Amino acid sequence: MANTDRMEKLVSLCKRRGFIFQSSEIYGGLGSVWDYGPLGVELKKNLKDRWWRAMVHARDDIEGLDAGILMHPRVWEASGHLAGFTDPLVDCKQCKQRFRGDDPRIRGTPGQPDAQCPVCGTKGMLTAPRMFNLMFKTFMGPVEEDAAVVYMRPETAQGIYVNYLNVQQASRQKIPFGIAQIGKAFRNEITPGNFIFRTREFEQMEMQFFVRPGTDEAWFEFWRHERMGWHERLGIRKERLRFHQHGTDELAHYAKAAYDIEYEFPFGWNEFEGIHNRTDFDLSRHQQFSGKKLEYFDQERNERYLPYVVETSVGADRTALAVLCDAYHEEEVAGENRVVLRFLPSIAPIKAAVLPLVNRDGMPEVAKRIHDDLRGRYTVFYDDGGSIGRRYRRQDEAGTPFAVTVDGQTTQDGTVTVRHRDTLVQDRIGAGAIAGYLAERVAT
Ligand code: ATP
Repeated sequence: MANTDRMEKLVSLCKRRGFIFQSSEIYGGLGSVWDYGPLGVELKKNLKDRWWRAMVHARDDIEGLDAGILMHPRVWEASGHLAGFTDPLVDCKQCKQRFRGDDPRIRGTPGQPDAQCPVCGTKGMLTAPRMFNLMFKTFMGPVEEDAAVVYMRPETAQGIYVNYLNVQQASRQKIPFGIAQIGKAFRNEITPGNFIFRTREFEQMEMQFFVRPGTDEAWFEFWRHERMGWHERLGIRKERLRFHQHGTDELAHYAKAAYDIEYEFPFGWNEFEGIHNRTDFDLSRHQQFSGKKLEYFDQERNERYLPYVVETSVGADRTALAVLCDAYHEEEVAGENRVVLRFLPSIAPIKAAVLPLVNRDGMPEVAKRIHDDLRGRYTVFYDDGGSIGRRYRRQDEAGTPFAVTVDGQTTQDGTVTVRHRDTLVQDRIGAGAIAGYLAERVAT
């Protein structure tokens, strides 16, 4: 299957089955904003919960935070975003398309006669690059004036830096320790696209780990391996994951070292997590701009210092896209084609479907009782519409790992079959044992 086909099929499946819809579709859609439907919201929530459990609950040295999207405008001066969070924007005067100045498809030098538009092919009509700030601006209060400008945060990290002493003092953490946060971020991207890969509104899962200068390189190594392990344990195929180390020409202004974790999407290898050694850049800038001392007092060593920061920053949406791409399979089963999403059971939106084999002989009643008993503990789905084969296929497309079927034997001996999505093996177990059976298999 060609890769563009694969992506198109995935986008269409996501819409059809209620994973992801185009924002404001009935109005023609809003560029690069996507809405998560009933299955998508469960998938993304499971990913976020899994991240939170691994980063916050499973560790004693990381605390959680949920900071506001709007922050004091000086934050963005200090962070360097106001001056430096820009992309070069190039327009084609012929076809009116916009590009990033560093778009590899552009031939020649934008602004010069040799530059060729990658869309319409016209030469000499590309403007010289203009720097374009990616932050969304809005106004706080009723008056739209310069003094009232606030920004929609382009990353969640700054909310952590400005709160780092609050959190440290309230939780009595000692360095090294981290602060984790999940939240929305906004970037007015010039060329958004590839479905939910690059959007203007997205969610980040970020953790900032505060360490003593000099120990930063070891912690950086620790965290980049730890994060790769997290993606592998999510069930993403290892051969589609790799590190990309930033060369000196790629490093962001704040970073001493950086690795991306990349996934091989149908449209190529691309970053979905960044691990950065941000040194004391952010804290020293906030100290300078706020005039407040942000040093940490290390009692054991009896010294004061500004901690260094190792950051792990992963997009919830890009992770969802990597998981969807990786789980998507088309295969032939008994002469019929099926599409199946092979999610790890613990992140599957629906854990089990409950199906009466036929709509008579007391089977629907028993199936409904089983469904009602499981509901509340697991996301389960009752379905009695259409042939059993069709219903299995629908669940395969939703990525449901188990289908519990009530058949003629159930009414005699109280057993049901449990069909496994990936192997198609069917186990026969007592109806009373279903909850325990699921518990063993969906908790990983
Ligand atoms: P890119 O080079 O793709 O623009 P970036 O290096 O600017 O990404 P970071 O600032 O390091 O990205 O952000 C960390 C993570 O946030 C990214 O790895 C990605 O998962 C997510 N992210 C960043 N920008 C977007 C976006 N426009 N849409 C969706 N997710 C995003």
